[in-house]
Amino acid sequence: MSDEPAASPLSPLQQKTLALLRRTAEPVVFDTAFVASLRAEVDEAFEGFAERLGDETVFMSKHRISSVLGCEVQHLHDDTFAWSPAIAGGQVAHRAIQLLINWRGDPVPADVVDEAIARLASDDTSLGEWIAGLTDADLSDLRGFATDKLIKFQECFPPLDRRAAPTTESSVRWPIDGPIVLSGKVDLTIGRPTGAESRKVIIDLKTGWVSQKHREDLRFYALVETLRSQVPPRKLASYYLDAGDPVVEDVTERVLLSASRRMLDAVHAEIELRVEGREPVKRPGTSCRWCPLAGECTEGTAYLTGVSDDGF
Ligand code: SF4
Repeated sequence: MSDEPAASPLSPLQQKTLALLRRTAEPVVFDTAFVASLRAEVDEAFEGFAERLGDETVFMSKHRISSVLGCEVQHLHDDTFAWSPAIAGGQVAHRAIQLLINWRGDPVPADVVDEAIARLASDDTSLGEWIAGLTDADLSDLRGFATDKLIKFQECFPPLDRRAAPTTESSVRWPIDGPIVLSGKVDLTIGRPTGAESRKVIIDLKTGWVSQKHREDLRFYALVETLRSQVPPRKLASYYLDAGDPVVEDVTERVLLSASRRMLDAVHAEIELRVEGREPVKRPGTSCRWCPLAGECTEGTAYLTGVSDDGF
């Protein structure tokens, strides 16, 4: 008999996650000619962009892409970032999940969160400074929020086998140099390519409601992963922890092409706006709800009034 403690049986939620994310018997292998042509298309477009950029540089993250393709006036507005309990709570939860995945044994979630907060507070970052200035009551709220997310993560995900190469907060970046950089930090990846076989699953952990933007964000990560490693991931998942539900998408050639065109459109718009001086276009939409310009913006006010008149 083994001295190892017996593994707990998986809950229905964990079984559902496993079923949605696990590999099928049929290996996923992309056509290498397709991957080479995707990369050649991006290389060629970047060369053209570099000529327009002069000495300027463009840094593209998932947030910048959706921002520049949304309302351009809001995108260009100089909005100073400030930490809030909700944003900081998400960061603490992600750090705690990162610790949990690599922790040996069966740790108490609140202890893992305490460790995450201690580590973040000692970092020489704006978040570290923000946490260090919290009162005991604010810290208690932060701890409560992050512990809730960590427990939900444990409820939703089966224990991740180290052989499946799980990584958290993994930075991706491409290319290595040049005036345009695509960059991101992936919440969770499971698996890694074996030869040309796609095995990696890219997962974003979400706490709010479902949004098309989340799917586009993951497609961007799939594109960067493909450009850097030349082996696309096989699956993408936005995991909504509060609802216990993943929205899963298989990576296909169509998905990668659409991510590439969206990214190139975003770089083109960024250069037009920031380098070539094109006038920004207002695009009223959901982002008017939290836009700092909403009070003085006729289009935004009309949009918000229309939305509330309709009862949505
Ligand atoms: S209120 Fe809406 S339309 Fe106006 S600037 Fe902000 S996001 Fe754009």
